[in-house]
Amino acid sequence: MILLLFIFTIDERYHTLDEVAYELDSIANHYSSIASLDTIGYSTCDSLPIFAMKISDNVDVNEDEPEVLYIALHHAEEILGVEICMYMIHDLVSNYNVDSTITHWVDNREIWFVPLLNPEGHSVVMEGIDTTWRKNKRDNNNNGIFDLDYDGVDPNRNYDFHWSAGGSSDPPSEYYRGPAPFSENENVVIRDLCRTHNFVFCNTYHSARTGLGEVVYYPWRGDGGYSPDYPFIREVGDSIARRIINDQGNGHYLLLVGWGLDGRARNWLYGVCGTFTYCIEVSTDCIQPGWMVNDICQRNLVGAYYLLERAGTGGITGCIYDSLTGEPLSAEVIINEHYDPNLPPRQSDSDFGRFLRILKAGVYNIEIHKNGYESKFYQNVEAEQDTLTELNVQLKRMGGTFIMENNDTAILINPNPVRGTVTIQLTNPLYFTSLKIYDTIGRLLKIYDTPTNEIVWQCTDKLNRKISNGIYWLVGETDEQILVIKKVVVFN
Ligand SMILES: [Zn+2]
Repeated sequence: MILLLFIFTIDERYHTLDEVAYELDSIANHYSSIASLDTIGYSTCDSLPIFAMKISDNVDVNEDEPEVLYIALHHAEEILGVEICMYMIHDLVSNYNVDSTITHWVDNREIWFVPLLNPEGHSVVMEGIDTTWRKNKRDNNNNGIFDLDYDGVDPNRNYDFHWSAGGSSDPPSEYYRGPAPFSENENVVIRDLCRTHNFVFCNTYHSARTGLGEVVYYPWRGDGGYSPDYPFIREVGDSIARRIINDQGNGHYLLLVGWGLDGRARNWLYGVCGTFTYCIEVSTDCIQPGWMVNDICQRNLVGAYYLLERAGTGGITGCIYDSLTGEPLSAEVIINEHYDPNLPPRQSDSDFGRFLRILKAGVYNIEIHKNGYESKFYQNVEAEQDTLTELNVQLKRMGGTFIMENNDTAILINPNPVRGTVTIQLTNPLYFTSLKIYDTIGRLLKIYDTPTNEIVWQCTDKLNRKISNGIYWLVGETDEQILVIKKVVVFN
């Protein structure tokens, strides 16, 4: 009698963790001037390595270049993303100094990959233990055994953005969000990588076992409507989706807005870090036959590469410095028309003082704030479609004095904080075309056109309602759009 043992095996076209490690190591050795490999952490239960590869010229130097991140395999069975990342890495290094566009990107971007984020979940799939496994292997019941029906956390519900509103609190669930936000090493490594890098864009690769495949999801739709950068995030997402031809060859990937109020990577990366992040649901199933893989990767490449192209066009960028020392500053950059005060501030990076905001062509009002420095306000800054507008900013340290000099002009106000009335004296009122009063989220409360020597503001808004206690900005505008700004703390 012959016993037939039928085991579902994964096609050899798919990389095991060892093969990923071997290939990345070979690439880092062979192309050592443009590729570097790092182990950024270890998986939660089995302590398997989590790799990051950086591709850029002068790869060992942190250069002032737009940074783009690609992540695959939050979910264990969604192995096509690993293949797309590996395919892209090979394509970039082998075409450097061969293809002029790729050479330009490698020279002028910092391109990061985390190609296999959930290695212990991946091993469950690749070893055929459960080819539909989604989570990592956290030992939820602490029995020292890996229980398919009870263990594991969904790493794509473990980020600390609306964490408790997403996924499931039930350990056996495929969507178990974990015992606490960032309880999982897989999430900690992404958090730490994103804290030390200001990624402009991120693609995170998934596949759908059930439901809709061949979709690009972008953040977000939530209780309060759409995300503040919605029109720009959407436009970039649309460009990605339109570039990726579907498996049938009769259309392209679909663009859908994603739900924003849970601890998914795309919500955390956008909500907390300001990184425009896209979830690409690759193909129509998680594990496709091996012969389809190269073709799927090739078709996805153009969508992924669009981010490298777009990081150099259509937006406003610049560096923020201390006006005295020239030291780069991490400061808050607010695009007034696209601002949500409930989200963490969008900061320039501390290494270069660099900010980069992706926008559509148009004019924008921009505020730059940093504690201890006088804010700067820029009106009608033009963003163009094909280039990045440069806006370099020098911030002046705030002194203990309430007099602010600007050429031969001074604004004098009575000492901070003030109660009930703010007296503003302009030694040369003709210098100013207007004096405006803003609150800290950029709402214009009051305008004094053709200001006089002395303006007495009763701490009221346009409708003469008393304003609430807090910080306000007095902004003197001139013909040359030079702005003189004064912070005032009001206790009404
Ligand atoms: Zn997924």
